[in-house]
Amino acid sequence: MTNKLLVSLKVLIIQLNPQIGQIDQTIKRTWSILDKVTKSSTYVKPDIILFPEFALTGYSFHSRKDILPHVTGKDEGPSFQLAKSISEKFQCYTIIGYPEKADEQKLYNSALVMNPQGKRIFNYRKTFLYDTEEKWNCEENSEGFQVFPMNFPKRAKLPDEDTFERDVTLKTSIGICMDLSPYKFKAPFNHFEFATFCVDNDVELVLCPMAWLSSTSVTDKQIQNNVLLLESAKNKIALSLKEQGLPLIGSQGEYQLKIGDSQRTSPVPSDDCTGEYKYMDVPDMSNVNYWILRFFPFLYYKRRSQWFRDTSLVENILTRSKMPRDHEYYKNGKHKEEAMGVLNSKGVTKDALLEKTFLGASLRQPWKFEGKNVVLAVANRCGTEDGTTIFAGSSGVYKFNGREVEDPKGSEDSPLDSLNESVELLGNLGKGLEGAILRDVQFEVLR
Ligand code: GLN
Repeated sequence: MTNKLLVSLKVLIIQLNPQIGQIDQTIKRTWSILDKVTKSSTYVKPDIILFPEFALTGYSFHSRKDILPHVTGKDEGPSFQLAKSISEKFQCYTIIGYPEKADEQKLYNSALVMNPQGKRIFNYRKTFLYDTEEKWNCEENSEGFQVFPMNFPKRAKLPDEDTFERDVTLKTSIGICMDLSPYKFKAPFNHFEFATFCVDNDVELVLCPMAWLSSTSVTDKQIQNNVLLLESAKNKIALSLKEQGLPLIGSQGEYQLKIGDSQRTSPVPSDDCTGEYKYMDVPDMSNVNYWILRFFPFLYYKRRSQWFRDTSLVENILTRSKMPRDHEYYKNGKHKEEAMGVLNSKGVTKDALLEKTFLGASLRQPWKFEGKNVVLAVANRCGTEDGTTIFAGSSGVYKFNGREVEDPKGSEDSPLDSLNESVELLGNLGKGLEGAILRDVQFEVLR
């Protein structure tokens, strides 16, 4: 028999603006944030402390030579040491992003997971790489997306019990920033590779260390390669920072703390978001909405029931399950042949596919995630680098509740942003300030 367990997890996210070559200063600010967090009247001991991607080193390295002085093995170096000290002090898990050099001299963009005893229990390497990583020959994670267990003693209870006395082990996945995007921005947007992996594997906790850019960053190759255009784009950013009273690297040391309160983030429809870099203490809702959309398989969407009756779903699921990393594959129609091949061989193969999903739908049910819960924690850095790259901050905690929800009046379709009530926005930090957010998330798992 399966039981519903109610889990209570305290998740603390640290938002930082690390600059390259300033590791000591960043560590110092981290400790002062943690000190303020613990002194807050609403503080409770966290079970998890989550840091951004490349949390201490800074992100925008331009060559292998640039990054080499900052890379470390997975059981050494400043990020490892900080995570170890924090885990031991708070007796909690610490997850931190750092540049990794593996034994065979290969470089990775990684996140290590330290347990409450100060032992590293997992090391995840980013699977989908962003342009910036290509510049220093970062390797892809050859394992692809992964699931690993995180054990939380006395954090669960049966619905009729009063206190959380039961141990629970959660199926956890880490997605580092670009892992949430379509592979190389080339794969079809609606394959939602990472979120689909999470749904297919019944993941219950998703942790995302990020260095996600604000849309005000200069990313256009044409501008980057034209001295005059680049100069004027940089001037525009410098001016806008000046107007906010900020230095060129963005804000450091002015902390925003949202500790243990229950203040949620108000939904803003995607159409009303500008993505402008103003109001540092307010989340960048265009990014928040985008992240929610990238978890589409976890979102309630009315039309899935129609697709379920539509046979093309079968073909799509089969295609998805064999998805290669090359969009050319789809262009020449090879996927159709293969889908038919698998279908015709019947029986065994088809059974294995029953758990696979496409857009959240499986061959077994319209919405595989229905009735389940998943917690998503996003730690995104803030500040700017190179005078061109602005990071979007807005770290936050979300719960996808797996509920079929009413669509807003007058709308034909379920909203695919913060307005969708199957996602609960438990709180976000602002786009441009360092700081911390702590949330007690209660959610259900089946055991
Ligand atoms: N898709 C992300 C962005 O556009 C990728 C950044 C990253 O991987 N750090 O910001």
